[in-house]
Amino acid sequence: MVSTRRTTKAPSSSSRPSSPSPPPASPRGRKRTPSASTILRSRTKKNGEEEDIPISTKETKNHQKHGYEFGGPIGAICITILLPLTCYFLVFACNETTGCDLIESIIGLAKEKKKNSFSLLMIPEKMTPVFSLESCVLFLGWIGWCVMLHALLPASIVKEGVDITSGESGGEKARFRLRYKLNGFRVFMTTAVACAVGTYFGQIQLRSLHAKFLSLLTAGCAFAFALTTFLYVASFRVNKDDKSKKKKKKKTRKNDGIDNGPVVLANGGNTGNVAYDWFIGRELNPRFSNSLFDAKVFCELTPGLIGWLLLNFGFMHEQYARLGFITKPMVLVNAFQLMYVVDALWNEPAILTTMDVTTDGFGFMLVFGDLVWVPFTYSLQCRYILENNVDISLAMTAFIVIVQATGYYVFRQSNGQKNTFRTNPNDPSVRHLKSLKTKRGTNLLISGWWGIARHVNYFGDWLMAWAWCLPCGFDHVAPYFYVAYFGVLLVHRDLRDGEQCELKYGNDWKRYCEIVRFRIIPYVY
Ligand code: NDP
Repeated sequence: MVSTRRTTKAPSSSSRPSSPSPPPASPRGRKRTPSASTILRSRTKKNGEEEDIPISTKETKNHQKHGYEFGGPIGAICITILLPLTCYFLVFACNETTGCDLIESIIGLAKEKKKNSFSLLMIPEKMTPVFSLESCVLFLGWIGWCVMLHALLPASIVKEGVDITSGESGGEKARFRLRYKLNGFRVFMTTAVACAVGTYFGQIQLRSLHAKFLSLLTAGCAFAFALTTFLYVASFRVNKDDKSKKKKKKKTRKNDGIDNGPVVLANGGNTGNVAYDWFIGRELNPRFSNSLFDAKVFCELTPGLIGWLLLNFGFMHEQYARLGFITKPMVLVNAFQLMYVVDALWNEPAILTTMDVTTDGFGFMLVFGDLVWVPFTYSLQCRYILENNVDISLAMTAFIVIVQATGYYVFRQSNGQKNTFRTNPNDPSVRHLKSLKTKRGTNLLISGWWGIARHVNYFGDWLMAWAWCLPCGFDHVAPYFYVAYFGVLLVHRDLRDGEQCELKYGNDWKRYCEIVRFRIIPYVY
């Protein structure tokens, strides 16, 4: 069964810190089903407004088997254990109580040799215990606040996604579009105003987030496990829903308001292996009522990204309370990361064309990535600067600003160029660019930013990652965790995208790769 939606094309993928996939295992054996379906469209006028009618179509009942990614079920289990452990490790191994020497000690670079390196691993004294009920309530309250604002605030854009090819849904394979309510930027602005007013009147103490960091992390982990399990179990409602919908449709054949169509399963997350499907996500884009609330798109951008900024501001507030001023590194990292998140929220529609939304299921990988990994590991630099009293010279500050500006320029220009080219190829800014006509119908840019490297946008993003880590100075390795992890993520993401494009474009992609030889960094990789 296919639910079709209005057909305006959403902008092609632009920039956003989408949910970070975990550090990859081997992408061995991966084989995505190329979509063979065509989109069926139908519209009707109801109360003067255009409405969508879901159209039923059967394409194939034989769902093609998929290879595993991330090392299969064993890899999925290992990553599921390793991700939360890494989050805790970064707190236990790098804090005010123990210092930040553990990693150096393990790799033999420590200035002072300790008999037992693991004595450097400890719960920080200035943080509350690992678990606290108050933090659980706070975490749930935060998610609730975001959901409430998302529901109440107007959404200027109700965009459509791109065609989404599903896995098996009630024995059918479907290609369809959904509508989305996008108001992440408004949620952010409202939260910012609420925090500013609350802080001014003394009702909100952002600095307390530092003390609660560890217990909030535990609350986040528990929430991620619970939500993933709920989503996995809920994905089995597919048959029941489909049957009742089919019955209803036989009687009426008309659309009664927002219809999110059938429960659609993700290609990769529907293997039948519980551990693997739970990790990748069985359902593609869970929606639990006939509303525009899309759990995956909501989590991708709103609670995690804004939560990350709140933690950063909490560390800055704590530094101000301790020192009476804010240091240059703290200002730099806060400003850069604020800019990155605001950019992502401002360009929110771009999320709809990303792999995360169109292909990956909403399982532990994305749930944990969005709600825990991003806020609790991406804020490491600000926490490090607070706990280690780092300062840097003016020359270094200038150098870092240049790195950030260059990275942002490459990132924004390249993402923007593809976006413009895909939405309006006749736009004066892209009209002169050379492109490769493909049998699939879409053109691939072979000059401009996308002629320099196949993912030059990743290079810009990675340069920014350096600019976020360099303010931490060179005393320890730990704050450079982000730049290392992100480098691995981007290389793996490029490989995944390359495989997908080869499936989508076939020989055209091979030709494109011959013309644009470098993957991410021109003349290097
Ligand atoms: P991209 O923006 O790189 O888009 C890849 C898609 O673009 C391909 O699948 C293909 O899709 C299309 N494409 C590829 N080559 C060309 C070409 N030459 N001309 C025109 N179209 C082309 O996807 P991502 O979602 O991976 O990245 C978006 C941004 O998000 C990046 O800047 C990345 O750095 C950032 N990001 C940040 C993360 C974080 O945690 N901070 C995590 C992940 C990403 P098709 O042809 O089908 O349209």
